[in-house]
Amino acid sequence: MLISNRVRQLNPYVPGEQPKDRVYVKLNANENPYPPSSAVQKAVLDFVQNHPEKLSLYPDPDSLELHAAIADMLNKSGGVLCRAHVDGGEVQPAPEDKIPFTVTPDMIYTGNGSDEVLSFVFYAFFDSSKKFVMPQFTYSFYPVYAGFYNIPMDQVPLKEDWSLDVDEMLSRAGKNEGGIIFANPNAPTSLGLTRDEVRQMIKRASQDEIFIVDEAYVDFGGESCIPLLAEFKNLVIVRTFSKSLCGAGQRLGYIVANPELVNIVTTVKNSVNHFPIDAVAQVSGTAACRDVPYYVETSRKVAEERDKFYDFLKNKGFYVLKSQTNFLFARHPSIPGGELYKRVKEHGYLIRHFNTPGIEEFVRITIGTAEQMGGLKKIIEEIIK
Ligand SMILES: *Cc1c(COP(=O)(O)O)cnc(C)c1O
Repeated sequence: MLISNRVRQLNPYVPGEQPKDRVYVKLNANENPYPPSSAVQKAVLDFVQNHPEKLSLYPDPDSLELHAAIADMLNKSGGVLCRAHVDGGEVQPAPEDKIPFTVTPDMIYTGNGSDEVLSFVFYAFFDSSKKFVMPQFTYSFYPVYAGFYNIPMDQVPLKEDWSLDVDEMLSRAGKNEGGIIFANPNAPTSLGLTRDEVRQMIKRASQDEIFIVDEAYVDFGGESCIPLLAEFKNLVIVRTFSKSLCGAGQRLGYIVANPELVNIVTTVKNSVNHFPIDAVAQVSGTAACRDVPYYVETSRKVAEERDKFYDFLKNKGFYVLKSQTNFLFARHPSIPGGELYKRVKEHGYLIRHFNTPGIEEFVRITIGTAEQMGGLKKIIEEIIK
């Protein structure tokens, strides 16, 4: 047989559509509506124009400069960009976000988007003989990795208010002994646990099993768990440049964890590809992390626009969850999610609809610029009129 049994059982992730037939306003993949900072554009141009010879050489396998820049950005922002204070180009974390230790470069591991990072994290810390625990509705890539690596999973239903059922997750994790993963804030619900809620949760979980928190959206208003790394040796935090750092196209994701765990993920990565981050991504990522004020401003703009759009949807009779992310998860009382998605698309806007039982009534709307959201408001008013 030409194709392996393994491959015949695969069930790959289906990304938000990227149509080529027509130019849509894309509010369907949680991308950032703003371009990267001009510092990123300059750094990439300079690299390509003035150091083309570096493109024929392998990049730094340890991404040292990039890891130092990421650590520095986290220390300055406290890991939540939209709340950080900027004063004359100097950035300080909001008092409640200040990390009580210095994040060092050896606590960072980077990969080709957090999707790839997550796949190595799954391989490194979950076992095919034990079920790991995750919420029933969370990032829909987790079940794909579970299938890919043949790791059994235990999906715990959300509570009625769409928040995580922490007690049930812990109870099942106690039985399974295979670790826990969830996104915080969660997707597609947009709701987050506070840092203290996560702290209590890890305390009650086994310290011998991995505890993974995916912070893809935390910069838009959640609470980062990076400060908890001082207390727990089994915690891995996954983050990405794709959302708050306006960098989905450069494919850059990372973990923040204690160096021993970073080394384990590095061992997995080096068993597949020892040069995963290309030289241009190292340059653009480093430049992004050095221009924190720009991303503080863009994250804040997105968060403000989100809160305005939340009020708009509420006023129009939608059921909307109180988002800490760059998207809103909402349901209209009479127009089903699939129908709303279709009619919005006819007007040239893409939003996301999941054909997943339990959440088909909802749509997920990525927050764009004020102008884009103004356009969507008009379209929705027209549709529900
Ligand atoms: C977008 C997203 C990712 C993937 O990010 P990439 O770095 O673009 O691969 C990971 N986790 C969650 C929860 C996300 O929403």
